[in-house]
Amino acid sequence: MTVLEVRAVSFAHGAGRARTLALAPTDLSIEAGRSLALTGRSGAGKSTLAEIVLGLRRPAAGSVRIQGAPWTDPRRSPPRDRRRLVQGIPQDASASFVPSRAVGAQIAAALRRLDVATGREAAARVVRAAEIAHLDPALLDRRPGELSGGQAQRAAIARAVALEPALIVADEPTSALDGHTSDAVAVAVLELAATLGTALLIVTHDASLAARCDDRREIVAPRAAG
Ligand code: ADP
Ligand code: ADP
Repeated sequence: MTVLEVRAVSFAHGAGRARTLALAPTDLSIEAGRSLALTGRSGAGKSTLAEIVLGLRRPAAGSVRIQGAPWTDPRRSPPRDRRRLVQGIPQDASASFVPSRAVGAQIAAALRRLDVATGREAAARVVRAAEIAHLDPALLDRRPGELSGGQAQRAAIARAVALEPALIVADEPTSALDGHTSDAVAVAVLELAATLGTALLIVTHDASLAARCDDRREIVAPRAAG
């Protein structure tokens, strides 16, 4: 089944003579259980495309479909539905949690907020998700500042997994980590497609991570318009 379909999607900053194309028209698709690496130089538009797929930006043109349904204007669908379908793993996972509260409680809160699970069921799901992310469930009781960089990335993987989305978008999920940790986290992310049947879109400039994905797509920077 095709989970993500991107057709002629582009994005621009500014308007009129100040309009600058940030993403040239791009096509791609990802099937369930498959991973695709978005590669390309810095400034090519990779994060812009990731943000469009996450529903954080609206494309200037083109269409995005998730499981066959239009996603081009995600503001029209409730955040709850969007977040249940598409989850992100950011580059700086630690900053994506609030500092004052244990990460496990934050993941459970996301499950409640999105009407996925409550109470014991939510707690059990969080532990299962931590195991899938190779995060020691004992660390779920820690606040983000009490986790190492690699542990925080795994907590973000667990958050994405707990919601059982159809698509996970990971934007440079290993770039803030040292070599050894980076490799272990990359393995945990890549496993998700095969283990859970999730479609995976991974933004990376790490050639070895890109090589381990099922497919690769190079994004080429658009020429400045106007
Ligand atoms: P990548 O992830 O491939 O490094 P980005 O998607 O972050 O690329 O950026 C794509 C382009 O958009 C770059 O040329 C960047 O400079 C430009 N850009 C990003 N934010 C803005 C902004 N607020 N105003 C104008 N241009 C921007
Ligand atoms: P909500 O829509 O519930 O308010 P947030 O904006 O806090 O959600 O983010 C929800 C999910 O999207 C989190 O898993 C978060 O890590 C992820 N996310 C948000 N922005 C990005 C991004 N730029 N890159 C990757 N993941 C992101």
